[in-house]
Amino acid sequence: MTERIPCVREGCDHVILPATAAKTGGYCMPCKQEMEREAHQRYIEANRRDVDLYEGITDAVQILKIMYEPRTYDELIRYVPYKNSMEQVYLSLSTEQQHEMKQYAMELIRSDDEDTGKDILLYLVCYHDLPLTAENPELLEREIVYPGVLFKSASGDMRDHLLQRVNTDEENRNHILIMLAYIGDEVVVQHFWQWKQSPPDWASRLYVAPERYTLQAGWELTEEGQRRELFITPSYSLYETGESNVAGRERENLDGAPISLLVPSSTHCPWCSNPFISLMNLQVKHPALHSVYWKFSHLDVQTCLVCSSYSVVHMEMDATGNPIWSRYNVKPDGFDDIDVEEMSVDVLGIGSSTLEVGSLVGEGERAEGAREQEQRRLFHIASEPRQPFHGSEWAMEPSISQVGGHPGWVQDADYPVCPACSATMKAIGQLDGEMIQENGEGVYYMFACEPCQMTAVSYQQS
Ligand SMILES: [Zn+2]
Ligand SMILES: [Zn+2]
Ligand SMILES: [Zn+2]
Repeated sequence: MTERIPCVREGCDHVILPATAAKTGGYCMPCKQEMEREAHQRYIEANRRDVDLYEGITDAVQILKIMYEPRTYDELIRYVPYKNSMEQVYLSLSTEQQHEMKQYAMELIRSDDEDTGKDILLYLVCYHDLPLTAENPELLEREIVYPGVLFKSASGDMRDHLLQRVNTDEENRNHILIMLAYIGDEVVVQHFWQWKQSPPDWASRLYVAPERYTLQAGWELTEEGQRRELFITPSYSLYETGESNVAGRERENLDGAPISLLVPSSTHCPWCSNPFISLMNLQVKHPALHSVYWKFSHLDVQTCLVCSSYSVVHMEMDATGNPIWSRYNVKPDGFDDIDVEEMSVDVLGIGSSTLEVGSLVGEGERAEGAREQEQRRLFHIASEPRQPFHGSEWAMEPSISQVGGHPGWVQDADYPVCPACSATMKAIGQLDGEMIQENGEGVYYMFACEPCQMTAVSYQQS
């Protein structure tokens, strides 16, 4: 039996065969490999160079094309990211540049890079409301039937074609109904109304009634067969001051007004005893709320962040417009089995300990630490509105937080029903989970019923 000898590397207690030692210079295999890895790493660090593909390029279209270009991986190259996000570059496009990007997208679609082409079209539609009227027939021809928002500006001919095709195209019926919902003109509204009155044969093969598809595009049929909008406009981006991820035009408008977001309340949730949080407290006279009928000077959307992630949480207003827990709130099935007392949502920069302090404590008595914590975060509302569908495609990672605008549903559209009057509540805004909590996920959605002066908050995550 050959006697094993210790590895020569300091701190290693492996023993190896003399034959191995002869090959490795006395090192065990793990040590040898580790040393080779380290040497390789040193080589890369010494020889890696930064490559700035954007150097000297100022044309936004060129910049976007470079962003979409596939990169070959090379460990000796570190690509310098562009100084602005893709969203910011899109927002900076002139009308002419938007058309240039549209042509580019169609070329990609024709040359088999359908996914990139579709993404580009989606950004152009959501961020600029660019009509794809001329492109819609070709998209349909190529069986690009999703996302339906791409068809929102389809021609009357295309609409009529889709209204015919929905009867026969079993495979794409779901998508066609959503496309029609986005078109949503008077003719479409009439058809959805007819389908509601007397469901067509194919209706029984859908998961939901045909008229429920209109919710995906942000509207519903009234009892009289009219179109009723389910989200308020205009849409204003909400962002944290000092955040690097502020979209283009909005960054230039950092003078946008400060807004009160994510402020803890002095009252506590009766289900889990966490303090309520005011997700958004906005003066009703702000242009973002010009279409909202609200009796009080402020629209204060409070909720329990823990409980609203399980179930819709409704709030009513007291005589002075302060939110109070609604008598209509119903615990979801199985809620009592969840140990909610153990749960809290640590709102970034506030922390649950500060939440306990609450805002009832007078300024003078407030602990130094708590004051510092509360002053840590500042939020702004953009000074200019953005497109109503800007934040609507969650998967495209737009800046999500907004007041007004079509919701960015993570899952299917899900507008709560007002428990007092049974009307569908209108979406009034949404906050990105990332804004609320470190590593936060999902989206908190805010709703209002104007006749009842009630608010609601729900939550979706992937
Ligand atoms: Zn070793
Ligand atoms: Zn709660
Ligand atoms: Zn109501």
